Amino acid sequence: MSTLAISFEDIQRAHETIRTVAHRTPVLRSSTADSMTGAQLFFKCENFQRMGAFKFRGAYNAIASFSPAQRRAGVVAFSSGNHAQGIALAARLLEVPATIVMPYDAPKAKLEATRGYGAQIVQYDRYTEDRERIAQALATERGMTLIPPYDDARIMAGQGTAAKELIEDAGPLDLLLVCLGGGGLLSGCAVATRALSPACRIIGVEPEAGNDGQLSLRSGSIVHIDTPATIADGAQTQHLGKLTFPVIQALVEDIVTVTDAQLIRAMAFAASRMKMLVEPTGCLAIAAALNQVVPIKGLRVGLLVSGGNIDLARFAQLVQGD
Ligand SMILES: *Cc1c(COP(=O)(O)O)cnc(C)c1O
Repeated sequence: MSTLAISFEDIQRAHETIRTVAHRTPVLRSSTADSMTGAQLFFKCENFQRMGAFKFRGAYNAIASFSPAQRRAGVVAFSSGNHAQGIALAARLLEVPATIVMPYDAPKAKLEATRGYGAQIVQYDRYTEDRERIAQALATERGMTLIPPYDDARIMAGQGTAAKELIEDAGPLDLLLVCLGGGGLLSGCAVATRALSPACRIIGVEPEAGNDGQLSLRSGSIVHIDTPATIADGAQTQHLGKLTFPVIQALVEDIVTVTDAQLIRAMAFAASRMKMLVEPTGCLAIAAALNQVVPIKGLRVGLLVSGGNIDLARFAQLVQGD
């Protein structure tokens, strides 16, 4: 087998690094969900992670690896979502200056949250400017270190600590369902799972409108798509990463999809039955389980619930028709 970007040892080291600062999020059960599906479901609730999503794990692990010179020069990231907030919070805790490149029309709440964590924000016009080029220029001109949202070994190892905790707490699993954007979370969790629960099958879950990961895994090479129209904004990535894809190819059995309507029903289920707020992307695995997109009857199934950042007005608007 060719060498993959990360090993289980990298995840163990990442876990040592983040252990004292990241929350060990709870693994919740729902007897209603179990009886609806005939399975035993274990919900790993990263919606309760610091800043509201698993992204804090990878971000902290990446910045903690900086040399003293890198720490002084600072970190730069481009994102309008949870990666930006994860980097901003981790940078503040590690006393590293952070600059985040965000579009002018980013949701005000996200701009405020990122600024609230002490990051400097550089705005750009997403219709005429290329955010990657802007971030790259900042990195070159100011000596800052650019941290990509998923295609980075330190990020992947950090995200994998979520599955490590899940299996340590729940015991061996038959199946793990993980939401998929660029594959940082899925690749990290796959490596941790293969080491700790070797017989466990691992399946990624994408929004139906953005099934580039499914197309990539089935065709054997990375497929690029236009930004998909889906409420799962954390999975609106256009392609898997050069580092994440080989890990997914090696360890992930399949990638399945769910519709936005199924996501909305899963959000309503999590809120009304489990009393928790989960953002649309965070519901991908729950929706796949509740709809038996993969047969799960009789199995012990881990569900990675990835995040809970959605404003209440938007949440109400989505679930009210349901
Ligand atoms: C980023 C994100 C994802 C997707 O993670 P990848 O590592 O890009 O696959 C899923 N859910 C939430 C809440 C996210 O913020």
